[in-house]
Parts: sequence; C-alpha cells; structure tokens
Amino acid sequence: MIILAVNAGSSSLKFQVLKMPDETLVASGVCERIGLDDSNFALKFDGEKKTFDQPFPTHKEAVEFLLKALIDEQILESLDAIKGVGHRVVHGGEAFKDSVKVDDAVKRAIDDVSDLAPLHNPANLMGIEAFESALPGIPQVAVFDTAFHQTMPKEAYMYATPYEWYENYRVRKYGFHGTSHKYVSERTAELLDKPLKDTKIIVLHIGNGASLCAVDGGESIDTSMGFTPLAGISMGTRSGDVDPAIIEYIAMKENRSIQSVIADLNKRSGYLGVSEISSDSRDLWAASDKGDKKAHLAILKQAKMIADYIGAYVLAMNGVDAIVFTAGIGENAPETRAMVANRLHYLGTEIDGKKNQVRGEEVVISKTGSAVKLMVVPTNEEVMIARDTLRLID
Ligand code: AMP
Repeated sequence: MIILAVNAGSSSLKFQVLKMPDETLVASGVCERIGLDDSNFALKFDGEKKTFDQPFPTHKEAVEFLLKALIDEQILESLDAIKGVGHRVVHGGEAFKDSVKVDDAVKRAIDDVSDLAPLHNPANLMGIEAFESALPGIPQVAVFDTAFHQTMPKEAYMYATPYEWYENYRVRKYGFHGTSHKYVSERTAELLDKPLKDTKIIVLHIGNGASLCAVDGGESIDTSMGFTPLAGISMGTRSGDVDPAIIEYIAMKENRSIQSVIADLNKRSGYLGVSEISSDSRDLWAASDKGDKKAHLAILKQAKMIADYIGAYVLAMNGVDAIVFTAGIGENAPETRAMVANRLHYLGTEIDGKKNQVRGEEVVISKTGSAVKLMVVPTNEEVMIARDTLRLID
C-alpha cells in the first residue's frame, strides 16, 4: 500500500511517496513558491528528476497537480493505492502526546495552538485541508514535532518563571524535532541490539536547526529546544541559549524593538553571527582551515554547547549507552563530530579517526572497547511519519 508523507510550509509542500510496510521510497518531490507568480514543482522517481513550471495559487492546486503527476508519470496506477496521508505538524502543544488521525476536533486543536507556531501550524493545516479535498475519505494523520517530548518530567519542561505564565499562556519547554529524535533513538536501539526500554541514548540532531535529546528507555526526558526552536545549542543562524537580559540591553543601546533584536537571535546569530561569513558548516570549515579565527570560534562555540548538554543529559539519565549524530551536519561533517567527541573523554569514549570518515551511513565511530558508543544514524522523519500513519489507519 502507498502512504504519502507530507511537510507543508506556508509557500511550499514537500512530500514522499512510500510503499508500506516495506518502507521503500517510490517518489519524492516539492512544490515551491505556492501563491507566487513563478511557482514550480519538482518530482523525483526512478533516479529521474522532472520539473514543471506551473502556477499554484494555493496548496489545493499544488496537491491536485502532484496527484495527477503521480498517475501521468505512471508512478502509481491509480490513486486508490494511497491508503493514508501523514502530515508533519510542528506544534501539538500539550494536547497531543502521540500522532493522531485527523478529524474536525483535531484540526481545531491544531489551530488552537497556532499562536505557539504562527509560521508553521496554519501552513500545516492548509496542507491537511488540501489533501482532504483532493482525496476525500482517505485518512489523514497528524505527526507532531512536539509529541515525542511530552514525556518530559515537569522539572524538565517548566521554566522557573511565574507559574501563571504557564497557566495563562502555556509558557513551558515543548521541544522540537521529536519525529527525528524518535526515529533515531529507535533505530539506535535496534543497531545496539538492545530492547529500547533498556537503552539510554543521547541524540544530537545537528542541521541548520539543531536540537539534542536525552532518550531514556525510549522516552524523551529532556531536550535542548524550548518554548520555541530558538533555545538550546547554537545553530546555522540561531543563537541558542543566551541571557535574556541581552535582548532589552541591545534594544536600548540601538534604539530598536524587542522583536527586531529577537529576529537577530533567530536570523543573524549562531554560525553566521559569530563567523560573519556563513550559516553553512561547509563554508565555516573551509574558512577555518584557511586560518579564519571567527569561523573556528563559531564551530568551537557550538561544539562546547553540545558537549555541555551531553554532560547534563548523562547525569539526568544516570548513564548513557550511545551518543548519536544525525541531520545535515551530524551525518556529514566528520570534523564537527571529532570536535565534539574530543570533549567527551571523561565518559570513556574515543572517536576512531578512520571510522569517523563516513557520511550519511549507519556506523559506530568510536574505538572498539569504548564504554560509550559514538554513532552516526541518518534520520528519516518521512519514514517515521509513514509508520505512524500506517499504525493509526489500520
Ligand atoms: P539540514 O538542516 O539537516 O539539512 O543540515 C544543513 C547543514 O548540513 C548545513 O550546515 C550544511 O553545511 C551541512 N552539511 C550538509 N552536507 C554536508 C557535508 N557533506 N559536509 C559538511 N556539512 C554538510
């Protein structure tokens, strides 16, 4: 049977067509610039890539076009093969502790937490509604970035702020990238050949956005992103954790609004802000190799933040079996992995320089005999979305 895994943004719609339960990727694609003059559609299948320049006034037309393309390109014989559509939804607030089959009440609940993710939840809802109208009667499933972290204990998710902020405005740590942390921790347990409930795993999802997660017995007990994806370790353009008093201080010094200073923390900080060169790890390593001190500092600052979180999570879980690198940088940047690993000797682990040269493969990169295993496990959020969809439509 075919399941679609969909990630709808405000002007884009990414999708994968997966054959389940074998989890084979049949096709993938993206509609971009929806609602703009020059919208387009790219479709990959059978090692081919086709692009179409096509106006998509809304997500509805984009979905109709992509479904038609699946038939026209003979990727599917009939749309009847599609038994479910799984949607990435960024924020589930406290309402969703797991993925859920979509109905009107679920849509209202997603809308209800839109003020916690104003750029994402309304777009995710548009994606759901576009598929509802194009494939009536086919079940839709919402898979939340926040759901996996709903197992965090209260002392992990509460901030030490006035309690009424939590009661009145839902201010607490939610965490993100939950689908990735769940996939990677489950896969790591399989690779360790241990029951998930007996594992203590730290997942390092390091991409342009980055978050870390302490997964104890298959449950998230703490994570580095917070109320928003700005918190935690430094990222491509985001600062990660800073003293919040800096915000008012800069606003006063530069006679600017709080919003514009926070925009700097989101868009002009992290790798980009410290290096003053780029938000891309490849550019920073290239500059650092040529002796650029700020590029080196930007990478080193992130590595320190990662190692500091790892230290905290080892204590929070009272142990760790494996520390796992994933996402764009985690999967592809041996230099970054080595820089982090070199701060972890106290844990009795040492990176194997040769094994670490891998990119995008499942592999143990610590030396044989290391007490704590260092691993690379490529993430696959789409497979997790398809798995949850299959589980909930059966
Ligand atoms: P993501 O957001 O997960 O797509 O990750 C994007 C980040 O991954 C960017 O900083 C890229 O520089 C980094 N990245 C992707 N491929 C490589 C590579 N081959 N070597 C180093 N970094 C990479």
